[in-house]
Amino acid sequence: MIFRPRPEKLELVLLRYLHPRMVFNSSEALNFLNLEKGYKGELKSDLWLKGLTDEWIILTDLLLEYNGSKFQIDTLIIACEKIYLLDIKYFEGDYTIKEDKWYNPAGILQKNPLHQLERCETLLKKLLHELGYNFTIESYLVFNNPEFHLYIPSINPAIIFPTQLNRFLKKLNTRPVKLHKKYYQLAEQFNARHIVESPYERLPPYTFEQLEKGLLCPNCKTFFSDESLVCKKCGCIEDGEAAILKSVKEYMLLFPERKITMNDIYDWCGGIKSKKAVRRVLSKYFKLVGHRTSAHYVGT
Ligand SMILES: [Zn+2]
Repeated sequence: MIFRPRPEKLELVLLRYLHPRMVFNSSEALNFLNLEKGYKGELKSDLWLKGLTDEWIILTDLLLEYNGSKFQIDTLIIACEKIYLLDIKYFEGDYTIKEDKWYNPAGILQKNPLHQLERCETLLKKLLHELGYNFTIESYLVFNNPEFHLYIPSINPAIIFPTQLNRFLKKLNTRPVKLHKKYYQLAEQFNARHIVESPYERLPPYTFEQLEKGLLCPNCKTFFSDESLVCKKCGCIEDGEAAILKSVKEYMLLFPERKITMNDIYDWCGGIKSKKAVRRVLSKYFKLVGHRTSAHYVGT
C-alpha cells in the first residue's frame, strides 16, 4: 500500500508559473529541466510500484535528518525486517562509468549517484537504530527511462536498468509477508519526521513589477492576445472565469506576502479581462475585507 503518496513539488509548481513570465539564466533553466525530468521519473516509478502486492508499505518523497545531516529519499519500502531504499533516476541517453566516475552523454562529469545512495543508506541506518529498529537496508538506483543506457565496466547489483524493472517487482512479490502494527508505527514515525523546506529561497529572484503579466493558455503556456481567450498558437479556448481564477492562484503562490487587491489582479491578468470581470470572479470566490484603499480579498 502507498502509505505516503508523492506530493506535488511546490518548487516545480512555482517554476512552472515563473517560466513563461521571465527569462531564466542557463543554470536556472537547467535546474528547471532537471526537476521536471526527475519528477516525471518519480511519477513513473509510483505507477510501476502499483504492481506490488498490498503487503508492502511505501513512502515517497521523504526529507529526513540524522544528527544535523539531511537526506532525501525518493521511495522507501518497508518490508518484513527489511527496508528497500530506491533512488529514481530518469536519465536519458548513453552514460559511461570510467574509474568510478560518471559521464553524461555530452561527456561531462556527473556526481556519482551511487555515492549519494550510500550516504543516504548510512544515515537511514543510523536513524533506524536510534528509533530502535535493526532492519537491514537494501538500496537500489533505479533507472526508469527506456532511453537510458549505461556503459559499465562490471555488473553492479545495486543498479536496476529499465529492462530489469519487471523482474525486480516479481522478485519482491514472490515473498510477501503480512506486516503487523510495528511496521505501520515505523511508517508513522518516518512521516512525522519529514522536513518541509520552503522552496522560495531556491527560486530565481523575481518581483511583481518585473514579471510579464497576462493570461496563459493552459495547454501551451502562450499568453492570450485578447479577451476572447482563443490561443493563437494551439487553438485552445479558455473560459474567462477559469483563467482569472487560475491567475489568482498563481499570484497567491508566487507572492504569499502580497494582498489580493482588485487592481493587482487586474494588472496580473495583463488587462486582458475587464475590471468588472475580475471583480466578479474575486467576489464569487473570495471575501472582501477592509475599506477603500485597504480593501482586499481573502480566501473563504
Ligand atoms: Zn495554446
